[in-house]
Amino acid sequence: MRVVLKYGGSSVATIEKIKAIAEYIVNLKKTKYNEIIVVASAMGKTTNALIAMAKEISDSPNQRELDSLLSTGEQQTVSLLSMAINSLGQKAVSLTGYQANVKTVGVHTKSKIKNIDTEKIEEYLKDNNVVIVAGFQGINDHGDITTLGRGGSDTSAVALAASLKCECRIYTDVEGIYSVDPRLYKNAKFLDKISYEEMMEMANLGAGVMETRAVEIGKKYNIPIFVGKTLSETGGTWIMDMNDVLEDKLVTGISITKEIIVTTLSNINYSSEKIAKIFTIINEVGLNINMISQNVSNDNKAKISFSCVEGEKYLLDQAIERIKMELPCIELGYNDNLSMISIVGVGMINNSGVSGKFFSALSRAGINFYQVTTSEISVSCSIERKDINKAVEVVAEEFNL
Ligand code: ADP
Ligand code: ASP
Ligand code: MG
Repeated sequence: MRVVLKYGGSSVATIEKIKAIAEYIVNLKKTKYNEIIVVASAMGKTTNALIAMAKEISDSPNQRELDSLLSTGEQQTVSLLSMAINSLGQKAVSLTGYQANVKTVGVHTKSKIKNIDTEKIEEYLKDNNVVIVAGFQGINDHGDITTLGRGGSDTSAVALAASLKCECRIYTDVEGIYSVDPRLYKNAKFLDKISYEEMMEMANLGAGVMETRAVEIGKKYNIPIFVGKTLSETGGTWIMDMNDVLEDKLVTGISITKEIIVTTLSNINYSSEKIAKIFTIINEVGLNINMISQNVSNDNKAKISFSCVEGEKYLLDQAIERIKMELPCIELGYNDNLSMISIVGVGMINNSGVSGKFFSALSRAGINFYQVTTSEISVSCSIERKDINKAVEVVAEEFNL
């Protein structure tokens, strides 16, 4: 049997931890899986440290060079893990994204996997090696090293499982998926299964435990994804098809995006072309925006607000520069004291009144909310950052999460 195992940053943070994982893998190869592919992240907070170094040189470092730099974090881990496995007498080989033929498209620092040519991996497997692939990285059509966006090793793992036609096990520092981040809310309920749709929405709205794109690939290729605690034999959550998750719940989980920026553009003489132009520019620079509101006053002046995550401020700055060139009279305002709280659940599809309960719970706790957005299976709003803990508590109680 074949499996892809993925180990996140905190699981490989020290040499001791890497050695313990090596022992576990060697044992697993003897007892359960004859073909093992491992995807590893950078050790501990290495990626943050590399970004900080780049920022010491420039506020907006060259993105191609940043990708080369960031990819070194994962390269360290895979080499060390391979050495550790080899030293236990089991053959292992480490591969960078380039060596593993992970082909990507799109802009630097948030590229997408286009395909993986697995021929070489298959050869190593046939030769009885544990194959260890550096997560979070690939190579584009120019032959340049790219990275997949923060948390992207999950995506590398699921994409490899899809290409190698096997199950994917994501190992991290919590028992699995909970209704709310257990570090934010200690009474969060453990979920032994969750649908791809709900996990995708929760991830997209801030639940950092899985990367959105990883779940998207899992759904597309029907790869069951297991999320569990590193070296633990208990617990674990299966992310799977909605039809296999029979839950009679209105809301499944709460997601938080702690650091958002709400940008307000005002003093625009309204015309639909101008508004369309603004959003075209936002799209062209690759900025992801969440909540949008538009207001046109009687004197035909338009005001637009939209939110993005603080981590994409550099893209926001690029977009604003270009918008100012198109519309020089525009007035700008920023609010960076806000967070976004969202409720997610497929149960919302056939039930009304969920947003009413959500907003009433916030309002009873004296919490103001501002921009609002909804999808078929989620409701989100912005709140003051200082209110996060209280908001999570009252909303979790309201929906029994
Ligand atoms: P890794 O380095 O293993 O990829 P991450 O830090 O990316 O680990 O993801 C694990 C973290 O995700 C947990 O420590 C937890 O705080 C956080 N998290 C956020 N939302 C959830 C959730 N709904 N269930 C479980 N963990 C969550
Ligand atoms: N090392 C990368 C990050 O910190 C990728 C990952 O951990 O998944 O974002
Ligand atoms: Mg992660």
